[in-house]
Amino acid sequence: MTDRTVLILGGTWMAADLARRAQGLGSDIIYSLAGRTTATAIAGVEMRSGGFGGAEALAQFLNTHNVDQVIDATHPYAAQISANAISACTATGTALLRLQEPAWEAAAGDQWFEVPDIEAARDNAADMADRVFVTTGRQELTPFATDTRCWWLARVIAPGNDLPNLATGEYLFARGPFEQEEELALLREHGIAAVISKNAGGKATYGKIAAARMLGLPVIMVARPRQVHEHLVTSVDAALAWLG
Ligand code: NAP
Repeated sequence: MTDRTVLILGGTWMAADLARRAQGLGSDIIYSLAGRTTATAIAGVEMRSGGFGGAEALAQFLNTHNVDQVIDATHPYAAQISANAISACTATGTALLRLQEPAWEAAAGDQWFEVPDIEAARDNAADMADRVFVTTGRQELTPFATDTRCWWLARVIAPGNDLPNLATGEYLFARGPFEQEEELALLREHGIAAVISKNAGGKATYGKIAAARMLGLPVIMVARPRQVHEHLVTSVDAALAWLG
């Protein structure tokens, strides 16, 4: 038991890295996950899994656990939990930091098409390709389920009953990080002609972007949700400095 408690909202590589390294600061660390996939324990860190039950319930959690600081290190597209964190921290007067990867920038040779949402990504892909690699995550796959305009290769971390059947396509189960060379081989093996991606930022899932560039394939990029964060950092070092 220390004199300070930090809640890390996680589910990203950066969040796990932060939780590991934040222990050195002598705070109690609670690492929170949505519970959609199985998590690897982090030695010395208290893990909790599952939603809090909305913003008010999160505020209650902050009070009952005497949380002093919150770091929202969730994925850039996890907009709901980020909004809840802002609201709960404002209500309870708890310090809040947003930690997220900077967005990727298109490089020479990239053919990116930015679209506002998953449905637009699917429709754009169908206009330009017959075999499409879908990497937007398990919760965004319903729009592809009955769409037979393309063959969809959907990559998710693990099987589950929540995944819709794909009328034309198949699932690939794998947990990143994914290197450029293996992504290149995958795109070739499946004859992929376009990639649908979120602009996650960071190195762990950049391999497919670099591989698409090498093969001259279009990448249909779903735009990041717009959110305003009062205190925002883009590196674990900066988050540790804020905690310290
Ligand atoms: P979301 O839409 O923002 O959140 C939906 C609900 O899930 C939240 O309202 C909250 O439930 C619960 N939740 C989300 N993150 C949580 C956390 N870290 N700890 C406890 N509860 C959490 O989020 P999402 O897009 O479903 O993503 C779920 C998780 O997967 C996030 O933690 C995110 O970091 C990770 N992830 C998301 C993506 C993506 O593309 N969206 C990609 C990679 C990883 P209550 O309202 O009940 O508290």
